[in-house]
Amino acid sequence: MAKVVVIGAGFAGHTAALYLGDALGKDHEVTVINKYDYFLFIPSLVWVGVDRMKPEKTNFKLQPVYDRMHVKFVHGAATVLNPDEQYVTVKLADGHGEQRVDYDYLVIATGPKLNFAGTPGLGPDTGNSFSICTLEHTIQARDEYLKMVERMQKGETVKIVVGTGHPAATCQGAAFEYITNIHKDLLRRGIRDKAQLMWISNEPRLGDFGIRGVTVRKNGKPFTSEQFIQSIFDEFDIQWQVRTAVKRVEKGKIHWEDADGNEGTTEFDFAVLLPQFLGTDIQVVGKNGADVSEKVKNKGGFILVDAIYGLDYETLKDTPEAWPAVYQNRTYKNIFAAGIAFAPPGPISEPMKSPNGTVISPAPPRTGMISGIIGRIVALNIIDLVKRGRMTHHERMSEMFAACIASMGDSLWDGSAATIIIYPVVPDQRQYPNEEGRDMFVTHMEAGLAGAWMKRLIQTTFMYKFKGYPGWSIIPE
Ligand SMILES: Cc1cc2nc3c(=O)[nH]c(=O)nc-3n(C[C@H](O)[C@H](O)[C@H](O)COP(=O)(O)OP(=O)(O)OC[C@H]3O[C@@H](n4cnc5c(N)ncnc54)[C@H](O)[C@@H]3O)c2cc1C
Repeated sequence: MAKVVVIGAGFAGHTAALYLGDALGKDHEVTVINKYDYFLFIPSLVWVGVDRMKPEKTNFKLQPVYDRMHVKFVHGAATVLNPDEQYVTVKLADGHGEQRVDYDYLVIATGPKLNFAGTPGLGPDTGNSFSICTLEHTIQARDEYLKMVERMQKGETVKIVVGTGHPAATCQGAAFEYITNIHKDLLRRGIRDKAQLMWISNEPRLGDFGIRGVTVRKNGKPFTSEQFIQSIFDEFDIQWQVRTAVKRVEKGKIHWEDADGNEGTTEFDFAVLLPQFLGTDIQVVGKNGADVSEKVKNKGGFILVDAIYGLDYETLKDTPEAWPAVYQNRTYKNIFAAGIAFAPPGPISEPMKSPNGTVISPAPPRTGMISGIIGRIVALNIIDLVKRGRMTHHERMSEMFAACIASMGDSLWDGSAATIIIYPVVPDQRQYPNEEGRDMFVTHMEAGLAGAWMKRLIQTTFMYKFKGYPGWSIIPE
């Protein structure tokens, strides 16, 4: 009997758990370890943050799903991994000490560690800025946002800044959704004229989103995501500043440096700035307590897999095969990583360096869809290994299709969404010898009400899928 353990029940880990439970759960042992006892549909947090969705609509309990899917659930945080003796130590959430969980195969899908400490003064703990990365953070952000609404309703004008709070931050798409949802919400409340909205980000250009932007052909002419997002920001009256590293946050003040070395301060009343994402802080110890973390994680805590690491940006740009195919650790072949937890070989967007030496480089996004696909690939390969002894599935981000539907207002009457479809996620100029390195037939960009309907539909169908209801596996990641 094989023991398969998944750490983390987010987009990547929970997807993997469903496939593993379904295929192996009855005859083998599949266990999920998660810090929370619920699954959180993170994309809906942008609506919670403007009080357009109740927090309870964004999550459901994991245990009943896992009972149905023949998966064991351990509610707690994995603290130590011993890859030589093949076990994980879990600090149990109920306070009853620790539990040792043994494995034959391990999937690490722990998502991001939110590195607020990487930017002095950043984050909800300091009270200076807010975040929409977790449910608790989003509720805090919503409460602060509603205080701003009250002030505006009394006639005050406030300045709201949204974007990235670290030179190497990622997930710009989520911040974009939040600022455009704020715009729509304020319009609905009739107080849009009382708010100045500003976008601040580490992207080399507007609409880059950490994926080197997108270009499509419209009426035979190139149309870029920079033009696309700029037209949205112009229409929504959102000021913007890119190529910018947030260096420090104080109450009401963001201190920054841009890629040209200019330094400045932006004042605000309410700021939501995404932190840098790091990998896991699970301690990795081997035989006799030796520290073997270098074999498993990089310095940022991301899990080393079958990527080619150490290439400079220009070389990486021409090496699509540097992106991992099976997400398997090279030293410990029974360890896999999925979602944000795996170490990418480098950035997709061009890194910038200011004259003062500050590196401004958006990290590659591993969105929910990408994380889910990787979770499935990893699960199917583990199922292969258990049943047949060899892996048959692979999908690099340089071969992967992704669709991103960025909400710009949730209403099904006057809401909107920016729909961006890209293939592949990481440009491959060898396969697609155009300037973009992408398939121009598939890659697509559109804004409109239909996107708002799709976004709602996605939440409903994905919640259905993630609950493991009949037919869940035919709903694509
Ligand atoms: C506001 C917002 C909106 C977004 N909108 C979209 C969108 O519209 N579309 C899209 O595709 N993507 C979106 N994303 C990105 C998407 O949410 C992430 O890409 C996705 O959640 C990553 O999946 P993951 O499984 O790697 O990590 P997560 O979903 O973060 O899951 C990791 C899990 O591991 C658990 N964990 C961590 N450490 C441990 C430990 N030591 N022991 C046990 N458990 C642990 C965590 O508690 C968590 O449950 C959005 C992100 C944000 C913040």
